[in-house]
Amino acid sequence: MRKILVTGGAGFIGSAVVRHIIENTQDEVINLDKLTYAGNLESLADVADSARYHFVKLDICDRAGLDEVFAQYKPDAVMHLAAESHVDRSISGPAEFINTNIVGTYTLLEAARHYWNGLESSAKAAFRFHHISTDEVYGDLHGTDDLFTETTPYAPSSPYSASKASSDHLVRAWQRTYGLPTLVTSCSNNYGPYHFPEKLIPLVILNALEGKPLPIYGKGDQIRDWLYVEDHARALYEVVTRGEVGETYNIGGHNEKTNLEVVLAVCELLDELAPEASSFQPPASRLITHVADRPGHDVRYAIDAAKIERELGWTPKETFESGIRKTVQWYLANQEWVNNVKSGEYQNWLNAHYQ
Ligand code: NAD
Repeated sequence: MRKILVTGGAGFIGSAVVRHIIENTQDEVINLDKLTYAGNLESLADVADSARYHFVKLDICDRAGLDEVFAQYKPDAVMHLAAESHVDRSISGPAEFINTNIVGTYTLLEAARHYWNGLESSAKAAFRFHHISTDEVYGDLHGTDDLFTETTPYAPSSPYSASKASSDHLVRAWQRTYGLPTLVTSCSNNYGPYHFPEKLIPLVILNALEGKPLPIYGKGDQIRDWLYVEDHARALYEVVTRGEVGETYNIGGHNEKTNLEVVLAVCELLDELAPEASSFQPPASRLITHVADRPGHDVRYAIDAAKIERELGWTPKETFESGIRKTVQWYLANQEWVNNVKSGEYQNWLNAHYQ
């Protein structure tokens, strides 16, 4: 039984990690989250009453606050997911990405190192700092059939991926220089329940249900490797509990799809599962609208996940077809979560609750 400090546990992937740990293990979770627009405690309603779940509202840039959390909870491991994560937002406002993703990771590393230095030798050896990163740090695979491996050189294209690459380098340096027992994972595009509706798949589902245009960048020929979020959460738990210190593990779903293929798959499922939806007349695909491409847009990402499969025995349980069906079904069945996120009611509640 471990105590795991999860940063960003109110976000899309972080909440899947927290739910996975509470529902499938005996471990205790301390969810540390600043609750930016992307953090949503409603995503944790299923586990929030567990005696093994704790929530701390904190910015990872707050060193004094982090020191208190480490001293109070004495975690055995940190799973670091807190980040600014939306590429489009990083283009219009990079400052928050530099603050949270780089300065925040540095601050968390220093707080973890200070705490770790004070542990007795067996706890010190067992401690883990797991940094959750993205395949976007490797850049663009345009014009080749190659896959990203753990040794692919870094070539980030956007302010988001550059900030994540920078934080990856800090984490590895803290292991090499100070001996902090770190691990890094780089994952492909995630999709699934509780995804904030600014990202492609939830945006398409929700816009289609309201009869609004389904925006696709350029021709929609950008290729991403899609992984169901619960498969990612399971992989992360395998890495933090069984991974080799100092190693990097790539995590992916073997599901290379163009953005257009993804949107068409969602449209077909909506035609099948929600033909009666009031605002649109099937086919939903008639709502597809091509918009000007994102600046610096990478054309293709694809992950070679052979190492985590070979060394930790992890493989995805969902195919793209099964995962996307579950995702569309979840959004159709959870309109209340969606409405709260979209109406700003959740933000209002948050302000009232924490002031
Ligand atoms: P998200 O944007 O949904 O959630 C981020 C969470 O971090 C939110 O709960 C937010 O409130 C919190 N947060 C932001 N700034 C903070 C700060 N300064 N202090 C404390 N908490 C803060 O992101 P996500 O999609 O769940 O991604 C989680 C991690 O996984 C990120 O590090 C991201 O880079 C990485 N990742 C994401 C994907 C993907 O497809 N979404 C793929 C690979 C890797």
